[in-house]
Amino acid sequence: MNLTLHLTDNCNMDCSYCIREKCPKDMTEEVLYKACDLAFSKGQRAGLCFFGGEPLLKKDLIYKALDYCEAKSKETGMRFDCKMTTNGTLLDEEFILRAKKAKMGIGLSFDGKAQDVCRFFVGGKPTSAVVEEKAKLLLKLMPESTALATIAPQAVPYYFESVKYLHDLGFRKVSFVLAYGNKVNWTEEDLKLLRVELEKTADYIKELFIKKERFFMSALIVKITDCIKGANSAERCHLGVRQMPVTPDGDLYPCTSFIGDEPYKLGTVFEGVNDAKVIELSKRSSTPETCVNCDLVKRCTNSCGCANRMNTGDENKVSPLQCTYERMLIEIADALGEELYQIDPVRFMEYYSK
Ligand code: SF4
Ligand code: SF4
Repeated sequence: MNLTLHLTDNCNMDCSYCIREKCPKDMTEEVLYKACDLAFSKGQRAGLCFFGGEPLLKKDLIYKALDYCEAKSKETGMRFDCKMTTNGTLLDEEFILRAKKAKMGIGLSFDGKAQDVCRFFVGGKPTSAVVEEKAKLLLKLMPESTALATIAPQAVPYYFESVKYLHDLGFRKVSFVLAYGNKVNWTEEDLKLLRVELEKTADYIKELFIKKERFFMSALIVKITDCIKGANSAERCHLGVRQMPVTPDGDLYPCTSFIGDEPYKLGTVFEGVNDAKVIELSKRSSTPETCVNCDLVKRCTNSCGCANRMNTGDENKVSPLQCTYERMLIEIADALGEELYQIDPVRFMEYYSK
């Protein structure tokens, strides 16, 4: 099974949109090993995602988990996969090489040109120069790494510039998501500007496509690939089924935004998973009532319980922000897909149908 290990609730950064309550609570070795055992207890493969706070504050635990799980994989014959989301400030060559050996997927949380708008070290110093250096080191040793940008309303004017900057730096996969939660306040004006920035981004992807360069900018490209494959974007959310967070204390929840909400606790690494509760949760209707008759119902991530909960306080209720954003993405992605197909249908299918 797949677990997201919150190795610590602490972080060396202080981002204005951060939804995590920071406190100096770290996972113990006992919880770590129990979590690894749990990951190997079900299914044909074990998956760990190292997460925080900032997971590299607990590098020692990551090294221990990798050694333990690799040995367990040999012993059981089960596959072991791992990934990590990090703010990157504590990356170093030794760690990257160990991660590479473990075939770890690294997502570098980096907002590009918008980095210094919202993301500071604890104490207030800007982070962009440090993260840029670490990004270069990461790309040199693991060029397949992904940049993960979170865009708050005040960072929207830097959206396209950030996409281009991350691409110029060497990232071939970037993920751009909007900042949600009660620390951000989106206005109509922000969304109008976001549309302009997304259109500039679509033109840039087209420019690269003409130059035969493949660039995976997830917000737009996923809408294109899902459409070609006939995948239902609304089925992306699998609360507690595909990936379960583990808190530093060893408690299990359906998703990060549910952590600490006792009725949603799905067990502990010591007692195991409460399967009855997981089954109950999986019965949740995947389509919010307001979306049932919408033409875009299968192309929209309306069922993301985590985003819905952050925006509306209810995992089954989509916010007007999410609805407007999804409509905008689908419209721009469809126009882009149409243009790319006209330019070169064979290459279009080669790039986006797999
Ligand atoms: S790096 Fe991540 S965990 Fe740390 S403050 Fe920023 S958003 Fe929060
Ligand atoms: S576009 Fe809006 S109404 Fe339509 S499925 Fe998405 S969230 Fe629901």
